[in-house]
Parts: sequence; structure tokens; C-alpha cells
Amino acid sequence: MSDAPQNRLATRCVHAGEAEDAHGSPHTPLYSTTTFAFPSTAAILDVVEGRATGSLYTRYGLNPTIQALEAKLAAIEGAEAALSFGSGMAAAAAVFLAHGREGIVCVGDAYGGTLELLGEQLPLLGIRTHLLLGAELDRLDGLLADGARLVFLETPTNPALEIFDIAAFAERTHAQGALLVVDNTFASPVNQQPLALGADLVMHSATKYLGGHSDITAGALMGPAALVAAVAPWRKNLGSAPAPETAALLARSLRTLTVRVEAQNASALALARAMQAHPRVARVLHPGLSSFPGHELAARQMSGFGGMLTIEIDAGAADPAAAAAAVVDRLRLFTLAPSLGGVESLVTQPCTTTHHGLSPQERKRRGIGDGMIRLSVGLEDSAELIADLEQALASAGTEGVVR
Ligand SMILES: *Cc1c(COP(=O)(O)O)cnc(C)c1O
Repeated sequence: MSDAPQNRLATRCVHAGEAEDAHGSPHTPLYSTTTFAFPSTAAILDVVEGRATGSLYTRYGLNPTIQALEAKLAAIEGAEAALSFGSGMAAAAAVFLAHGREGIVCVGDAYGGTLELLGEQLPLLGIRTHLLLGAELDRLDGLLADGARLVFLETPTNPALEIFDIAAFAERTHAQGALLVVDNTFASPVNQQPLALGADLVMHSATKYLGGHSDITAGALMGPAALVAAVAPWRKNLGSAPAPETAALLARSLRTLTVRVEAQNASALALARAMQAHPRVARVLHPGLSSFPGHELAARQMSGFGGMLTIEIDAGAADPAAAAAAVVDRLRLFTLAPSLGGVESLVTQPCTTTHHGLSPQERKRRGIGDGMIRLSVGLEDSAELIADLEQALASAGTEGVVR
């Protein structure tokens, strides 16, 4: 069978989960269908009572297009099982509700929506959540001893691209009988395989690299069948399965995942090196640079360094936020938009978008400078992307003076 787990990732991306089709379609067709017909009451009872598997009702995820997508999602993370969702936040919410009710510890920085869910909404349900930054990580063992049962982390983080040691956190978490859940959105399965490093569950905002074209909102969760099965009723009754149209588009995108991400890895590294040599750039954060604090760990646990980089405009500027905005506003090839992972290069200034909701003190505590510019490198020619950054840095050189 072409989707055997030992096949290399590129092959799994293309072939895993593609069902045989009576008409000879090379991939699973789109079943734009909400419900499925049965020949008899006995046959429908077999599915409803779990004696047979089959398509039943799309919100349950029991739709051939969604099930084909999930076989592919499981295969690309080397997992036994996967669930797809209508968004990355839907995946995070379902996994927290299914496995985190006794307490959740978030290690390091995380996506803004995840921090808000953990910090604001889950406590309303009586769920105890703890957000630990680098210097507070010595509290982790105590919180686990106190009953927290789920540790959540992102690596690399947004926007500082901090690297956490997945194997070490898995060991520390398992020592106290808790689960480690890793958000693998920034790395993608091409660059990092958290389950192989010891994580229990992996989640993705498939809106980013997995979807890859800035045209679908979706999420994914992968892991052992028993842990994934415990999340399924939450997805079913929170109503957060994806539409079949979205599932078909996501499966289409996954077939090109390795090609896209490998090209983005190479371009991002070229941009990082060019920016490191630029006199107006004080700091370049990219895991592939040997000067980057997490470089050695990244080189150990990642097979590629990803398509994201963050640059910091000369800290000497009187108003670093304005100096960075002047550069952002002069870029022509990079689109100013708060997302990542698509074929088109995107730029954001964290202090005006993803981290705008935080106070200046909290941004500082999290190491998010106002002069930071986050770049999501797309599939344009990398020399043209570098030239675009250079013209923006040059023409914004006299900050405050409009050309
Ligand atoms: C975007 C993002 C999410 C949320 O995903 P949505 O698809 O927007 O719900 C979660 N984690 C990370 C790291 C993200 O970048």
C-alpha cells in the first residue's frame, strides 16, 4: 500500500489516505454531502452502534473526504490517528477540554488566541491554567505535582522563534504522568516531528503551512488512537469538524507540502543571512543562523529551520516602533498581513498586530521589541525578496521623512 508509514514524507504527502475510486480518480473526490444513505435499518445500526465503519453524517467527521484527509494528516506526523478541525483554535480548544480539565501548563510564548483561551475563557469553566515564561520554568514540576495533567508548548515560538527541547519536556512531563501537547504550526511536519521526539499529541493551525495558500482556515490534531479518540466527542458536539470543501482543499495542499516548505526553508535562510549583514538591522532571529541562541538545539531536533524570521531594526532609533513601521510600509513584494505559511511572503510588526493586545511592559517581559518585524517567507524568488527588504531599509533610512 502506498501510504505505509515507512514511506518517506514526500511520498506520504502525495499518496497517504487516497481512497480507491470506481471512476479512477487519482485522489479522493470531494463528497459535498451532509448525510449518507443506507440500504436498511440493520445497516445503519451497524454504523451507529460501532460494528461497522462507514460514512454517516459530516459533522461527525464521517464523510469520505474528511476521513481521507485524516489518514493523510496522521501519516505525515507518523501518528496512529488524526482529527481535522474548522480552525487551529478549534483543535486547541477540543484538546484542552478533552485532556486538560485537571489543569494546563503552557510553556513559553504561544499564539495570541491560545493565550487568550488559556488565560480568559478556560478559567471561566473552572479549569486551572498556568502560563510560564522561560525564567519561571522551574515551577513546572510543582504544578504537575499539584495535579496539572497537560503541558502545552510551541517551538519555534512566535515571533522570537525561541526553541524548546521537546524530548526533555516530554521526559519531565511523563515523569509525573502528564501529557505533552506540541503546536507544530511554525515548523510543519517537514521540519519537525514532535511525536518521534516523545510528545503525546501534535496540533496544527492548518491555516498556515499545511494549507499553504492563505485560502483555507483549518486545524489538525495527531497522536495515538486512544488519545485522539477521547477528543472526537468534543469535536463532534462542539461542531468543529471542517467542511468537506475545506478538507478537499487541505488534502490538495498537503500533496505539495514538502516541496513548498523546503523552498521556504532555503529562502528564509538566505534572507536571514542577508539581513544579518545589513547595517540597519540590529538583530536577526532565525534558528538556522549559528549566532541564534537556540541554533544547536534546533539543529538537533529539526530537519530544517523553517520559513519564518524576525528582524529587529536598529535599537538606537528614538521610536523603534515607528522606524520598523517605516520599513514595513515601504515593502512592495511582502504583503502586510497577520498570518504565515502561504505561498506569498507576508510581513507583520508584532507590536501592532499579533501582540498589540499586550501592555508595553508585558511585551518587554516576553522579549518582543517594538522594532521587531516578522517575515513569513513565501515562494517568490529569494533574490527579489532580499532586494525588496534592502530598498525598504534604504528608503526608510531617514525615518520620519516621507519620500
Ligand atoms: C494561527 C495559529 C493558531 C490558530 O490557528 P487558526 O487556524 O487561526 O485558528 C494556533 N497556533 C499557531 C502557532 C498559529 O500560528
